[in-house]
Amino acid sequence: MSSMMRSSPTSEAARPAEVAAPPSVAQPSQGYDGAGPFPVEADADAPAAPRGISDRLYVTVTAAIVVAPFLGLGLAGWLLWGSLIHPADVLLALALYVVTGLGVTVGFHRGLTHGGYRAVRPVRVALAVAGSLSFQGDVIGWVATHRRHHAFTDRPGDPHSPYRYGTHLRGQLRGLAHAHVGWLFRNEPTSAGRYAPDLLADRDIRAVSRAFPALCALTLALPFAAGWAIGGTWQRALTALLWAGLVRIALLHHVTWSVNSLCHMIGRRPFRTRRHDRATNLWPLALLSFGESWHNLHHADPTSARHGVDRGQIDPSAAFIRLLERVGWVYDVRWPTPDRVTARRA
Ligand SMILES: [Zn+2]
Ligand SMILES: [Zn+2]
Repeated sequence: MSSMMRSSPTSEAARPAEVAAPPSVAQPSQGYDGAGPFPVEADADAPAAPRGISDRLYVTVTAAIVVAPFLGLGLAGWLLWGSLIHPADVLLALALYVVTGLGVTVGFHRGLTHGGYRAVRPVRVALAVAGSLSFQGDVIGWVATHRRHHAFTDRPGDPHSPYRYGTHLRGQLRGLAHAHVGWLFRNEPTSAGRYAPDLLADRDIRAVSRAFPALCALTLALPFAAGWAIGGTWQRALTALLWAGLVRIALLHHVTWSVNSLCHMIGRRPFRTRRHDRATNLWPLALLSFGESWHNLHHADPTSARHGVDRGQIDPSAAFIRLLERVGWVYDVRWPTPDRVTARRA
């Protein structure tokens, strides 16, 4: 199968720039001392507060996406109490968690955002689809927002820094809520033209991006249909939808959001990062986040395909990239070298 994939060199994807965001937008912030709240005027890209019908619609839809999985979780717990959970629900949830999680970490993040490897076109597109099934926004918007996070990490302009409200206790608690989920409600769009021109120029990725609403429906329809096929009743379809649909989505949401919030506040910082950048390595999240919680190394070396570079640091995303490399579906992988890692130690 790999030779079939390799036989179409014209399908190779363009590699994004070495540094994720254009240097012109990543200048040091004026008037930020690293401790106080971010100056309000620094959010150049965005309106200060939600306004108008489209903004209210945006906030309503976001609230539905954030809250619905928890309603599912509560209902699921109640159903569990009544013994309405089946092994097939758990296996389906696990399978979809792995597929959509790797779509986000290997596809959206390490590949499309940072260019940690190149992929043959069918794999590039398949990973973009898998990531889109995670209910985390369309692929181009996700990448643009994340590149902006790297361009302005933990200083004014960062879309989800826990230091937005300062480093005193109240500011930190408010910042933690903001970095975890609050930022999603602010409707501060990141310009895709500015941060993801390479993806806007990719017809296939644009198509995946446009298909996001349909993929959201699909990510719920899949477990419903599988539950129906396996159990043969609408009750079994509904329990599969709850566990492998809503609960699975909620769990991956909070793991991803924890990398934005906890992995900039708690944990170790063995590697040097840029000024103000406080990204941390947080081991308890390593397995659930597929290696993304080795976030300090990631901010020290964003294009590295492996984030868990030290002994015992489990990194399932890197293992998956290695597997894809072995079968020839990805190539030009930026594996960390000992020299590169040593040069970045604090
Ligand atoms: Zn980060
Ligand atoms: Zn990143």
